[in-house]
Amino acid sequence: MTRGDLDALVIGAGVCGLTTAISLAEAGLRTRIRTANLPGQTTSVAAGAVWGPVMSGSGGRVREWARTGLEVLTALETEPAAGVRAVTGKEVSRVPADPPVWTDLLPGIRLCGLSELPEGFVAGWHYTAPVVTMPVYLGYLRARFEQAGGQIEVAPVDSLAAMDAPLVVNCTGTGARDLVPDPSVVPVRGQVVLVANPGIEEFYIDHSQGPPDYVYFFPHGDILLLGGTAEEGAWDMAPRPAAAKRILADCAAADPRLRDARVLGHRVGLRPYRPEVRLEAERLPDGRVLWHNYGHGGAGVTLSWGCAREITEAVLAEAPRYPRIVLRGDVVDRCPPVRHAVSGPAAGADGQGELGRPAVGVLDVLAGEVDLAAEE
Ligand SMILES: Cc1cc2nc3c(=O)[nH]c(=O)nc-3n(C[C@H](O)[C@H](O)[C@H](O)COP(=O)(O)OP(=O)(O)OC[C@H]3O[C@@H](n4cnc5c(N)ncnc54)[C@H](O)[C@@H]3O)c2cc1C
Repeated sequence: MTRGDLDALVIGAGVCGLTTAISLAEAGLRTRIRTANLPGQTTSVAAGAVWGPVMSGSGGRVREWARTGLEVLTALETEPAAGVRAVTGKEVSRVPADPPVWTDLLPGIRLCGLSELPEGFVAGWHYTAPVVTMPVYLGYLRARFEQAGGQIEVAPVDSLAAMDAPLVVNCTGTGARDLVPDPSVVPVRGQVVLVANPGIEEFYIDHSQGPPDYVYFFPHGDILLLGGTAEEGAWDMAPRPAAAKRILADCAAADPRLRDARVLGHRVGLRPYRPEVRLEAERLPDGRVLWHNYGHGGAGVTLSWGCAREITEAVLAEAPRYPRIVLRGDVVDRCPPVRHAVSGPAAGADGQGELGRPAVGVLDVLAGEVDLAAEE
């Protein structure tokens, strides 16, 4: 694809960049991704990841993006290569608490009876939601984008306006802080521990602590992801031994099956927090369009399809006015939520592992590399 053959350039290859690029490419736009890091080396690979619009502002737009995300992720549960499964579990609290308003989007949500709560807990709710194994899912998204004709170029960007494409979409997560620049974007550092799953099939989230400390776990087949932390303003990416030890101890206290769990690895990601997600278009002086799609905080997996769809619908509605964009004539459904499902092994040039199987991401720090006996 030469520059002149390009309709859309998406900056960033995390979950928001990949879904936006897929949505545009499957709608008929000749689309490329340019990114500093491949999908397996982004914050997105560190997510837990359960559907739920947390730490991402509020309001009707967030709710609608979350609703779209729930529809798409639920549909992907039937696509083995995607790494998305319906998982049941509960959120619990030692202090009185109500389910967040958005839980009404989940069919089957119900309050826990007192007998279902662990000792010392006074509130809780029980539901089933899509849980996403991110190394697998990002591999699936990448393969789906490439199947739609997309290409990925690895190179950092230092000026959005200098990008040579009719449509540019900025999906740079915490990178937007310097690139836009937008000082309202701050990292909320999250650390998790991966252990061999001793047979746990339900997720568990305890709201009693934090921030910065949380207690949760999500099953991903043979692997259980234990969390976590949410530390605003911290940029350091090396796993902290003290945080890992605290996570292991708290999760073992919540479920005794985790007392001797074998540690497989550690992940750290920087949630791109902003008081509100920024999803808006800007017309550049030369007539080209720059869309911003960043600041999804703790909910990028949840909101990504809704945001991608909003951009794609707006671009298609305005396409005749965009200089140089050529829409392919052979695309029937220009805003397909789930199409071109990809099966089989992932190309995984960035080491994503095989699709359809839980995988340890390339960003993982392996168990032996973090000294859990060390003092901080
Ligand atoms: C521990 C943890 C648990 C989480 N759990 C959940 C969950 O359960 N559910 C949920 O929905 N979300 C969850 N999240 C949040 C979710 O991971 C993020 O909201 C999401 O990953 C943000 O995606 P993104 O694509 O915007 O950013 P990123 O994944 O950070 O991707 C940004 C991309 O932009 C590129 N980039 C940045 N700057 C530049 C530049 N100057 N030039 C070129 N490229 C650039 C990067 O290389 C990267 O490819 C969690 C996050 C963490 C850390």
